[in-house]
Amino acid sequence: MKKIAFFCIPAHGHTNPMLPIASELIKRGNEVRFYSFDEFKDKIVATGAQFVSCDKYLPEITEEEEKNLMNVNTTEMTIQDIRMTLKMNDFLEKEFSDFQFDVVYTDAVCFWGKLNAWKYNVPMVCSTSTFAFNQMSSKYMKMSKGELADMIFGLPKISKELKTLDPYGYHVKSAMKLVQNDNSTDTVVYTSRNFQPYAESFSDRYIFVGPSVFSKLSPNKEKERPIVYISLGTVINDRPDFYHKCIEALSDMNVDVIISYGKYMDKKLLGKLPDNFQAFSYVDQLEVLSRADAFITHCGMNSVSESLYMSTPLILYPQTNEQWAVARRVEENGAGVLLKDDSTQGIKDALTEILNNKKYAACANKCCMDFRSCSGVEGAADFIENAPHASNGVDVISQLNKGNKWFYLCYWFIVSALIVLFGLLVSWGFVWIIGVCAGTLSYPISNLFQKKRYNRIVEKLKH
Ligand code: UDP
Repeated sequence: MKKIAFFCIPAHGHTNPMLPIASELIKRGNEVRFYSFDEFKDKIVATGAQFVSCDKYLPEITEEEEKNLMNVNTTEMTIQDIRMTLKMNDFLEKEFSDFQFDVVYTDAVCFWGKLNAWKYNVPMVCSTSTFAFNQMSSKYMKMSKGELADMIFGLPKISKELKTLDPYGYHVKSAMKLVQNDNSTDTVVYTSRNFQPYAESFSDRYIFVGPSVFSKLSPNKEKERPIVYISLGTVINDRPDFYHKCIEALSDMNVDVIISYGKYMDKKLLGKLPDNFQAFSYVDQLEVLSRADAFITHCGMNSVSESLYMSTPLILYPQTNEQWAVARRVEENGAGVLLKDDSTQGIKDALTEILNNKKYAACANKCCMDFRSCSGVEGAADFIENAPHASNGVDVISQLNKGNKWFYLCYWFIVSALIVLFGLLVSWGFVWIIGVCAGTLSYPISNLFQKKRYNRIVEKLKH
């Protein structure tokens, strides 16, 4: 029997996948103490875990900060996570000393879980509710200009905030080290190896257990007419404009529609619903998906996994860079269409395509079979019980990075030689043009080489 501490941030998408694992661990006789928030208390208590409320440690935030958080501003989220860690310091010091945990199972972006596991030297397993991200798979993300600006201008703010952790025994070199897991961190990912982009770049300390779902339901699509389910998840779902377009687009189609509009919006904003529509602030999503024939989704990792687990093809409407990555992977697997045009006509066309072209349902079904063949909740529980894990030492990323160093060395050596040659033979006045061009091209060229080297390393490993 082990004493296991679970930590998660206040978000359904991050909490939900951890719940069946808590249940399974408890069923096996382990003790699970789950540090979370009152909003999630009922679901956590239902697993049999001891619920520990962390609400009183939530930092007080200004209106401006709240607005940033609602817009999923990464800098703001990182800063609030760091402040929360500091507020919890004394409390968790006592908890770690009283309970002497054997393992910490923490969400990958829950800093107070990760930092305290490191501080008290407790074996840690990370729960990754998105795809596993590293320098290869993050290429799947499509960063908006706003997100890029936030990343660049937010870095100094984050570095300053990180320094406040040091006196409390939390030593972190960079925000990246805190957010991204490396190949030596035991990590559970809730998807299959097939669905994970660049799966080979993750070491054997990653386990791909398939979607973590609580439901024993199987897909059952038998009914008179198709069901379309619409949800933009639980975080940024306050989009009456989008729901109105969906209502206009689908009101005269031969389908039944269920909307989950979330808890932030007043239902009145939807106006009078057509007869074929039903709207709720929250639904049993897995149950709805087991019957649904199409899902209009924001492409949260959980929603997409649950949809494919229930063999439901998707209309992809991603809003953040992570969601773009998930959407792209669904498209690559042929199980959905991207909603490029979110006008009324665009929504109508996308749904018609999904319902009329059976290839989407067939591909969704293929993903369903793949997900259902993963080790699942039992695999995750085995992995957590047996942490820390040894590794076979194969680390594609470190091999890749060694190659990257050589690439940059050679690249800049050649550029410097060219600059000198040009200066001596033509003119020193224009050598800066070569410098600027070389600087601009270095990223796409290195990317190209990196991808080639990656394929070579993977091929070699296969043999
Ligand atoms: N969910 C639900 N009922 C709803 C809306 C959402 O049960 O009406 C659940 C859904 O099943 C999923 C989670 O909330 O497990 C949403 O997670 P996701 O990663 O898709 O999106 P997020 O809310 O984190 O943006």
